[in-house]
Amino acid sequence: MLKNDLLSAAIESLAPAERIVVFTGAGISAEAGIPTFRDPKGMWNQVDPKKYHINNFLVDPEIRIERWQNTLKGMRGGPRSSIKPTPAHYALTRLWKADRMSGCITQNVDGLHIQAGLPEKAVAELHGTVWRSECYKCKRRWPTETVLDWVEAGQPDPICPECGGVMKLATVLFGEKLHIAEMAKAQEFADQAQAMLAIGSTLSVFPAVNFVIEAHQLGKPVVLVNLGETEKEDRVSVRITGKAGEVIPDLVDALLASN
Ligand code: NAD
Repeated sequence: MLKNDLLSAAIESLAPAERIVVFTGAGISAEAGIPTFRDPKGMWNQVDPKKYHINNFLVDPEIRIERWQNTLKGMRGGPRSSIKPTPAHYALTRLWKADRMSGCITQNVDGLHIQAGLPEKAVAELHGTVWRSECYKCKRRWPTETVLDWVEAGQPDPICPECGGVMKLATVLFGEKLHIAEMAKAQEFADQAQAMLAIGSTLSVFPAVNFVIEAHQLGKPVVLVNLGETEKEDRVSVRITGKAGEVIPDLVDALLASN
């Protein structure tokens, strides 16, 4: 199908839905300058995945020190300090403001949906966020900026001031369970929607991808906007191959104009 035909097919699938649940992955933030995981230039080809397993993180202070240093460099003057949401993020905020989105289930940890204006109550951050840090033991949380102050003040491997536990970014490492509250929020968004718009994900990470599988099983249309191949093409009703920042604004504007 031609691009315009695909856009029409996507709108036809989504327009009857009173509310749409949005499901996003690393691809929506690629145009903001954040590398995805599995593309050829993705993070998995540049970092050692072992360093992203909770067991290694907990036992090896060198891994923790390196990760805090990277976070410090990235957030203070480095690439992460200047990263801005993309046109796709802003378009999704328009969809929410028009009361057509039940919520956004994101696998991303970059906080860009909230930075683009989605209220926290509208975003389920399944894999956590880099903007908060927590004690692994007592689960108390602080803004990551506060913990970076401790690092800069001479604690390269900061510990919880309340209980002495190991501090980590509030993101889900391999081997960790997803936050129950975020999962429950995501399920609510999924239940309240009659269609799904999935963006920028290989649809390969469990349990997140279960939301896509479930939408398909319940007979809800799933529109996918993605650049590369995914592992669940058979679950998708309409697939648009393209960049999120180019496709999503047109899709949202056309959808909002259609009813
Ligand atoms: P992934 O890396 O597996 O897949 C990204 C997909 O996005 C690919 O299929 C790619 O073709 C597509 N893509 C790349 N650029 C795009 C663009 N401009 N427009 C549309 N699509 C584009 O990512 P995933 O499915 O989210 O799973 C990876 C895991 O990585 C998740 O658990 C997530 O938590 C984590 N992650 C998050 C970030 C972030 O917070 N921004 C970045 C990297 C990885």
